[in-house]
Amino acid sequence: MAVKVPKGGKEAGVLMRCDQCSMSLPGGCTFRGICGKDPDLNSLQEALIYGIKGTAAYYYHAYELGYKDDEIGFFLSKALYSTLTNVNFDKNRFLELILENGRIHLKAMELLDKAYTETYGNPEPVKVPTGTDEGHGILVTGHTYRALYELLKQIREMGLEDQIRVYTHSEMLPAHSYPEFRKFKSLYGNWGGSWVYQRKEFTEFPGAILGTSNCVQQPPKSYADRMFTTDIAGLEGVPHLENDYEPLIKRALETPKMEKRDDGYIVTGFHHTNVLPLMDKLIELINEGKIRHVFVIGGCDVPNPKMSYYEKLTAMVPEDAIILSAACGKFRYNRRDYGEIEGIPRFMDFGQCNNVYSIIQIAGALAKELDVGLNELPVSIVLSWMEQKAIGILYSLLYLGIKGIYIGPKAPEFFTPNIFETLRKKFDLRLISEPEEDLKRMLNSTTAVSEDSPLLD
Ligand code: SF4
Ligand code: SF4
Repeated sequence: MAVKVPKGGKEAGVLMRCDQCSMSLPGGCTFRGICGKDPDLNSLQEALIYGIKGTAAYYYHAYELGYKDDEIGFFLSKALYSTLTNVNFDKNRFLELILENGRIHLKAMELLDKAYTETYGNPEPVKVPTGTDEGHGILVTGHTYRALYELLKQIREMGLEDQIRVYTHSEMLPAHSYPEFRKFKSLYGNWGGSWVYQRKEFTEFPGAILGTSNCVQQPPKSYADRMFTTDIAGLEGVPHLENDYEPLIKRALETPKMEKRDDGYIVTGFHHTNVLPLMDKLIELINEGKIRHVFVIGGCDVPNPKMSYYEKLTAMVPEDAIILSAACGKFRYNRRDYGEIEGIPRFMDFGQCNNVYSIIQIAGALAKELDVGLNELPVSIVLSWMEQKAIGILYSLLYLGIKGIYIGPKAPEFFTPNIFETLRKKFDLRLISEPEEDLKRMLNSTTAVSEDSPLLD
């Protein structure tokens, strides 16, 4: 790949901070490292490290279900090794590594999808109650389905399925769509929205709470004595459980019983295995002009006022367009009734952030079925990012050659202006602006995809 990277250093007007070796200046190297590293190189190294953090999260969840891949493990080592002192000063090589990270990240998402579907079955769209049922409550947040499954199994083994109701929170919501989870009588509904509001929502939840991964926050006194962690999650002063959930179950039995309260439902569980069979209908509607545009709007939630952009944009999407979504940012806009276009839901929630893999499968299939280049596909991608898995997803989309992606609520701080400008020029990477303005632009353009995109294979 030949990419011209602008000169960095003082010209970039941006400082860096690196303190990873003993040559570091007091407080870290800034402007330029003693080793010769400049801010743009530092930016690329950080960008790679953050990308593989995201990849590591997906690989971890696949691995703990027994799904392994040597190439992913090797790349994680290779990427980290490349950022050691005095190993690689070539910015183009780092850009290549970032795109390679995108390929490996896609592979990790594919592996995780395989792990989930072979372990828990293929997801199906389901209506998940957002009210409560009678009984003691346990709320499970994070991404670790394995922990939720073990908990439900232990509740059954203890003969407490009629006494305890288990609720999902945030990224745990899609568990309801997997057949193996639906077999448990104690799994009832979903409580609350994204991680951003957890302190308020957990305070209001009267039962015991289990944090399985990100995003957990240090609990205030209001629920600290009802909170537990498991798997990768950890909180100071909070008991950590490994596979034995009896302390959590017993704590739940000490908390007040919840009452039956109806509050509607959220639909989740779309997946390429249940959307690809609708491809003929989708193609027909697109050819007849009844579906004008497909919006992929998803990603993290962030405590940033600019997240209102996503609420406004989804509300403004025209009636003859559909929205595909995933991850926890959707809780800002997934309770609306978007209706259908001749049986095709206008809003489809594909689940957790890693389920972007399903959306990518559908985009590839759509292009093939329509017999058009991906350049001509009427798709716009609008990501919200908070943490490193979303960065890995961004790299996967860039690896696929997809151009014109919108990201928000802000540009990553770890990109220097030079590096962001390089990505803007090469991939037409765009920052969100105003929803009205962006929407007009999206409806009048198609997502440009490089001719050498692996999606076209
Ligand atoms: S690796 Fe380079 S920039 Fe980082 S602390 Fe060492 S000398 Fe400084
Ligand atoms: S999608 Fe991102 S922000 Fe949301 S819970 Fe998962 S890791 Fe956290």
